[in-house]
Amino acid sequence: SQLGEAQEGLVISRFGQHADIEANDGTIQRCNLRRTISSLVTGDRVVWRPALNTQTDIKINGIVEAVHERHSVLTRPDYYDGLKPIAANIDQIVVVSAILPELSLNIIDRYLVACETLGIKPIIVLNKIDLLDEENREWVSDLMTIYSDIGYQVLEVSSHTNEGMEALTNTLEGKISVFVGQSGVGKSSLLNTLLPHNEQAILVNQVSDNSGLGQHTTTTSRLYHFPLGGDVIDSPGVREFGLWHLSTEQVTKGFVEFKEYLGGCKFRDCKHLDDPGCLIREATERGDIAESRFENYHRILESMEQVKPRGNFT
Ligand code: GDP
Repeated sequence: SQLGEAQEGLVISRFGQHADIEANDGTIQRCNLRRTISSLVTGDRVVWRPALNTQTDIKINGIVEAVHERHSVLTRPDYYDGLKPIAANIDQIVVVSAILPELSLNIIDRYLVACETLGIKPIIVLNKIDLLDEENREWVSDLMTIYSDIGYQVLEVSSHTNEGMEALTNTLEGKISVFVGQSGVGKSSLLNTLLPHNEQAILVNQVSDNSGLGQHTTTTSRLYHFPLGGDVIDSPGVREFGLWHLSTEQVTKGFVEFKEYLGGCKFRDCKHLDDPGCLIREATERGDIAESRFENYHRILESMEQVKPRGNFT
């Protein structure tokens, strides 16, 4: 078939040999993929060409010819494929945590290590702060300085009262984000608050379309625009993003505040545990490294030892 002029586009969603591409004029164009394209996921920037003689009964509007280089890629372990890309060009990962069901610094630290390994900036969002009285709120804010002190942005929000939501909106502007975090922390609630109603409808449909197969089979991710700027890529697969098998070195690098001490310990193969002359343990004893971070570092390493090299979510 005849093709029009090549143009730029953004992958909104990919399914099988098709993809929905957002053209520069904002329209969504369903496209086939050239056979030469080996990998295409939501968030990819592409070159596509419109099909000029589209027949009305064929709902294909064009063809994707090439994929631009990605500046980041979110992957998940796949039993057959090793690491499988699920979203591309993500600028930041919103690590959602909440007062309820539990505020777990260990889980926050695991996500931070995963983000550092991928080289994608994490933003820590603590949701449901409406559940705290003044005293507990102060206690929680103090606790979160563990993270702001080592350079992470921390936002305390409530999707119920809208407190802190303006700061979150500003942080999302102009960026492609994903929201990750344990079930029940309020990711859906936050996204429903942030997205306009027509986008939400799609979010709901995606899940109900596959209800017979169970929510977890809906792995196709989709990109949504925030009304005040910025995008989010979302799917159950994206939300389940976690920590798979990492080397000791990767975990160590994932603790950004350890960096200035690395290489300075007395022993070259220092385990940073009870080895004599360990600068990291000494910094923890002095209070320059938070105790919870030191402990979680070792907890993460221990859990890695229990995971087989092929890896899985932990
Ligand atoms: P998800 O599993 O991370 O998507 O979490 P949901 O969005 O489904 O929220 C889990 C539960 O937390 C629901 O009952 C929500 O109503 C509740 N929830 C979400 N955000 C807030 C909040 O800001 N404050 C309070 N008190 N509850 C919230």
